[in-house]
Parts: sequence; structure tokens; C-alpha cells
Amino acid sequence: MSEHHPEKRYEGKAKILYSTADPDVLLTYFKDDATAFNAQKKGTIQGKGEMNCTIAAALLQWLETQGIPTHFIEQTKADEMLVKAVKILPVEVVVRNIAAGSLCKQTGLAQGTVLPQPLVEFYLKDDDLGDPLLTRDRLMLLQIVTAEQLARLQDYALRINGLMQGFFARCQITLVDFKIEFGTDKTGTILLADEISPDTCRLWDQTETDPNLRVMDKDRFRQDLGNIENAYQTVQARVLAQVQQLQSLA
Ligand code: 5GP
Repeated sequence: MSEHHPEKRYEGKAKILYSTADPDVLLTYFKDDATAFNAQKKGTIQGKGEMNCTIAAALLQWLETQGIPTHFIEQTKADEMLVKAVKILPVEVVVRNIAAGSLCKQTGLAQGTVLPQPLVEFYLKDDDLGDPLLTRDRLMLLQIVTAEQLARLQDYALRINGLMQGFFARCQITLVDFKIEFGTDKTGTILLADEISPDTCRLWDQTETDPNLRVMDKDRFRQDLGNIENAYQTVQARVLAQVQQLQSLA
């Protein structure tokens, strides 16, 4: 059998995707690079690749056991995982439980306002356009998804939110909001793709009351709050401990 030479298939801001010997499988490498504000702010977070890969692997694997189909196959190194090859839908799905970030900026809602019910939003995945917020009709107009796919995304988003809210609560972490991405495999099945990590979620430490000290996610980088590595490490430790506890109960 001829040896496979991995080829770079796609490079994003935080990850690189490589081919493998199996055309249906890709290798994801998680970088330490950090960007914010549509890559206007750039930096490096020591150990971020390994921590995000490990956190994402644990969460995706757990979600899979809870009935959410994901692209995750196996974590092969601290900063590498094998995933099913999918065509990423060009839409970022954001779910919010508490007002923060762009929701506050765009609506005037006070940061920290507990939303009466989870809010699901869709943003166009297009850096050149600054990832604009989409309406349902714009999603249809751009033919990004069918009405049936949109209903499925909305349903998955809410189910994932409910599962993750419970999971993080057991870690003494409040899930404020998060962004997820989906892809379709060659049969057209929708899978949860990309990553779930402190880069893509807002996570507040329930053991801290200070509004700056409680931040355990990329807002530490966005707002120059310092101690980013420690925060990510704490998230990793609590997530892994929770996964272990759930496994020991199973
Ligand atoms: P916001 O719309 O308030 O900026 O972001 C809402 C949530 O989605 C936050 O948890 C944020 O980290 C995540 N999010 C939104 N857009 C992106 C993005 O382009 N990249 C990453 N990593 N996270 C995003």
C-alpha cells in the first residue's frame, strides 16, 4: 500500500484540516493562534491548541452519546483529532442564554440579562462581510439551507444548548452563549462540526462573582483580561472531571 502524504485541505484562523488515507476522514490540527474582531486582533495563547482540542473532543464525544450526530471520530494527539469529512454549511449558529457581546451591542440589552428562553441566531459565515446576522428569509434567499434543514439546525441548536447547559452547570460553569457550525456528509446527513471550546463559548465561573474574574473564555483575550491560559486550563480540568464522573455512573 502506498504511504499517504497528508495535504493541507483548509486553513482557518484556529485550525488546519489535512487529508488522510481515507477520503471520508480529515485530520484537524488545533493551533495556539488566537484572533478576535474578525482577525483585527491577533495573538498566541500558549497551549490553546491542545486544550481546545481536548475540550472539544470530550464535549463532541459526550454529545454523540446524547444523540447528537457529530463529525468527531477520535482524538489522536493532544492537539489533533480525526473527523468525518463534511461540507460545512456557511452559517454560524449562535445560541444565547444570557445577554452578552453583540446581542448587547445591537439591542441595548444589559450584559448579564437572563433571557426568558434560549435565543437561536444565524450568522453568515463570511469574514469579508463581517459575519452579518441573517434573517430566516435571507437564509432562504441565499439558498444556504432548505426550510427542512433550517428546522433541523434550530432543533439541534436547542437540544445541544440544553445538554451543554446541564453539563457545564455540573462543572459550576454558566453557559452564557456559544457558536456552532454544521456540515453535511456525502449522504446529506447534517452533523455537528467544527469545535466547541472556550474559543467558541462564553463561560462564566459560578465560583466567582467578580464580572472580570468569572470569565473563562475568549473574552479574556478579546478584552485583555489576562490569565487566559489558566482559565482555559480550569475549563479543561472541570470538563474532563465531569466526563469521567458521567462515565463512572454509566
Ligand atoms: P457574539 O455574537 O456575541 O460576538 O458571539 C456570540 C457567541 O458566539 C460567543 O460565545 C462567541 O465566542 C461565539 N462566536 C460568534 N462568532 C464567532 C466566530 O466567528 N468565531 C468564534 N470562535 N466564536 C464566535
